[in-house]
Amino acid sequence: MQIRKTFAKNTFNLDVMREKLPGKVFEKLKRTIQHGENLDTSIAEAVAHAIKEWALDQGVTHFAHWFHPLSRGTAEKHDSFLSIHENGGVFERFSASQLVQAEPDASSFPSGGIRTTFEARGYTAWDSTSPVFIISGENGGTLFIPSVFISYSGEALDTKTPLLRSMKTLDRETKKLLDLIGIRTERVISNLGPEQEFFLIDRDYYLQRPDLILTGRTLIGGESPRGQKLEDHYFGTIPSRVVTFMRDLEEKAYSLGIPLTTRHNEVAPRQYEIAPIYEDTNLGTDHNHLLMEIMPDIARSHGLEVLFHEKPFKGINGSGKHNNWSIQTVEGINLFDPGDDYDSQLRFMLFISVVLNAIMKNGHLLRAAIAAPGNDFRLGANEAPPAIVSVFLGSTITDILDRIESGDYNDWESLDKSMEIDLHELPDLLIGNTDRNRTSPFAFTGNKFEFRAVGSSQSLSIPNLILNTIVSSSITEVTKLLKKKMKTMEKNVAILEVIKELYSKSKNIVFNGDNYSQDWVVEAEKRGLPNLRTSFDALQQLIKKDSIKLFEKMEVFSKKELIARYNVDIHHLGTLILIEGNTLLNMLDSEIVPAILEYFQIIGISEVSGLVSFDKIKGNHAEMFEELYTKLTELRELVTEVKSQDDDVEIARRGVSEIRPAIEELRPIVAYFERNLPSDLWPYPTYVDILHRY
Ligand code: ADP
Ligand code: MG
Repeated sequence: MQIRKTFAKNTFNLDVMREKLPGKVFEKLKRTIQHGENLDTSIAEAVAHAIKEWALDQGVTHFAHWFHPLSRGTAEKHDSFLSIHENGGVFERFSASQLVQAEPDASSFPSGGIRTTFEARGYTAWDSTSPVFIISGENGGTLFIPSVFISYSGEALDTKTPLLRSMKTLDRETKKLLDLIGIRTERVISNLGPEQEFFLIDRDYYLQRPDLILTGRTLIGGESPRGQKLEDHYFGTIPSRVVTFMRDLEEKAYSLGIPLTTRHNEVAPRQYEIAPIYEDTNLGTDHNHLLMEIMPDIARSHGLEVLFHEKPFKGINGSGKHNNWSIQTVEGINLFDPGDDYDSQLRFMLFISVVLNAIMKNGHLLRAAIAAPGNDFRLGANEAPPAIVSVFLGSTITDILDRIESGDYNDWESLDKSMEIDLHELPDLLIGNTDRNRTSPFAFTGNKFEFRAVGSSQSLSIPNLILNTIVSSSITEVTKLLKKKMKTMEKNVAILEVIKELYSKSKNIVFNGDNYSQDWVVEAEKRGLPNLRTSFDALQQLIKKDSIKLFEKMEVFSKKELIARYNVDIHHLGTLILIEGNTLLNMLDSEIVPAILEYFQIIGISEVSGLVSFDKIKGNHAEMFEELYTKLTELRELVTEVKSQDDDVEIARRGVSEIRPAIEELRPIVAYFERNLPSDLWPYPTYVDILHRY
C-alpha cells in the first residue's frame, strides 16, 4: 500500500470534486466546506449528479444517510439508486433532495421524550462539511452521507447537531475576544486528536463468553497470576497477527480519509492504542465513529474481536480515549501555542486563564461529559484519572501565573526579567516539560489540552461539545471583563489584569501532583472540588437549573433537548445494568452451577449443608457453594425487584448502587470455583486463556 495513493480515495474529496464539478460549483462547494456554511441549494443538483457518477464508477448500488442517534454509535438506512422509467426501463437516480435530506422511519430511535412514537418523523440532513464516503464490500459498495438527525420541530435527535452548534458558538465568541485584542480571523475552530485504546482478543474465546458478548465486559473471572505485573506489554513488540490486522485497518482507514498515524501496545496484555493526526472536531468525531465501526469487521476477518469497553477485565488497566483538544484560527494561530513574541505569549496566557475559569466554574459538566456506564470502573482505579476534575498546567506555566498573581507586573518584559527562565524559550520548555504527569484528567501538553478521562467506548461528540460550551461561556465572560478594563487601561496591562483576576479565582482547579494518590482526594475536598464517583451522579449535573441556563445561553441545547438526553442516558445506564445482572444469573444457572454440581458428584459431595461429615477441602467447597447460592438468590431477587420499577431514574440509581456491588460480591466466589474445578469442567475461558494463551 502506498499511503499517498490510498489516502481518501473512497471519499468525495476536493480533488474528485475539482475533477467532476463545473468550476463555479466547485468553488461554491469548497467555500461551504471550508467555512462550515450551509449548502447553497442552487448547486445541490450538480453536486448530487457528480457524486452519483463517481459512486457508480466504483460499483456503488445504494446510498445511506449516516448519522449518530442519541442511543450512541451510528445509524444508517440504505436506499438503492434504482429507479424505473414510466415505460418500464430501469435507470440509476440520485437527486439533490436525496443527497440533502432523507426521512428514515425513525420511530424506534430513543428520543428521550422529544417525540412520541405516533409522531415519530424526524429527518436527516447532509452535513456538507464532512465528506461523503464509500464503503465497499466484495460485491458492491454503499455511499454514505454524513448527516444530522433532527425532529420536525427542529430539536436535535443526534449528537452531531449540538456539536456543530457548539463549534459555531465557539467561533462566534472567540472571534469577539480576538477582535478585542487586535486579531482578525475568518473563523475559529476546535481541533480533536483522539487516542483510541482498545483490547483485541481471540474471537474463539470471545464467542464463549456471554458476558463479553452481551455486556462488553467480563462479569466473572479471577485475576490472572500474571496480569500486567511484569510490565512487559507497553510499547512491546506488536504480535504479527495484530500488526496484520492493523495494516488492514489502516488501509481501510486511509481510503476513507482517516489520518491514522500511531499504533502501539498499551499497558495491559492484549491492549492497544491507535491515534490519528488531529482534525477539526466535527471531522475528527466522524472519523472516530467510522473507525469504531470498521474495526470489528476487520478484526473478525483475522479471528480477533475488538473490545471498546472501558473495563473489560478486572485487575488490569481499562481503556480510555485521550481527547487532545485545541482552538485555532483558520489562518493557523493555535491559541494554546505560547509563541515566541510578547503578544502571542500574553494571548496564550489569557486563553490558559480562560480554560481555567471554564473548568473551575463548570468542572461538574466536564464530569458529566465522561459519564459512561463502563467508565465508572476505570475512573479513580489507580490506572486512570479520578472522578475529580482538575487541570494540570506544569510548573512553568503555574510559576508564571503565580507571579502574575502576586507581583505587580504590568508588562511582559518586567515579568520576564523576574523569572529564572527566558520567557522567549517558553514553547520549547513547555513541549519538553508538560507531558510527564499522566495522572491528570485534563492536562496541558505543550500546545493543546489532553482530556484523558474520556471513556474508550464514548462518542466524542459529547465531551467536545461540552468542552466547547463551557469554554465559550468563559470566553464570553472574559470578553466582557477585558472590555471593561480596557476602558481605563492600556490593552496589555488590561490583559495582565484579567489573567490575574481569573487565576486568583480559579487556581484551586490547578493540580500538578499525583492524581492517583489518596491525599489528592482529601485535598480536593478541602478545595471544595466535587468528587462525583458514579455516572449516575455525574448525569444529574446536566439537568441542574444552571446547566440548562448555560446550554441555552450558548445555543447548544434547549431545555427540552437536554432533558431528553438525560432521559436517554439514564435509561441506557439502568437497562445496561439490568442486562449485566441477568447475564450473570444466566451464566450461573446454565453453566456454572451445573458444572460445580457435576464436580461435587465426582468427588462425592452429596449434600451441601451438614458440613461436619466432609473433610476440609470438601467442606470449603460446600461452604463456598452455599455462599454462592445465597448471593445468587439475593442477586436474582434484587434484579427482579429493580426491574419491576417503572421509573428509569430509580432503576439506574439502584443499578449503580445495589446491582453492580451485588455482581462484584459474586466475583471472588465464582473465581474460587474457577480455580478449584478441573479446567475441562469449567465452562468458560479464563483470564489466563483470554489474556495470555494465543
Ligand atoms: P502522545 O500523547 O502519545 O505523546 P501526542 O500527544 O503527541 O502523543 O499526540 C496525540 C494526539 O494529539 C494525536 O492525535 C495528535 O494529532 C494530537 N494533537 C497534536 N497537536 C494537537 C493540537 N494542537 N490540537 C489537537 N490535537 C493535537
Ligand atoms: Mg498525548
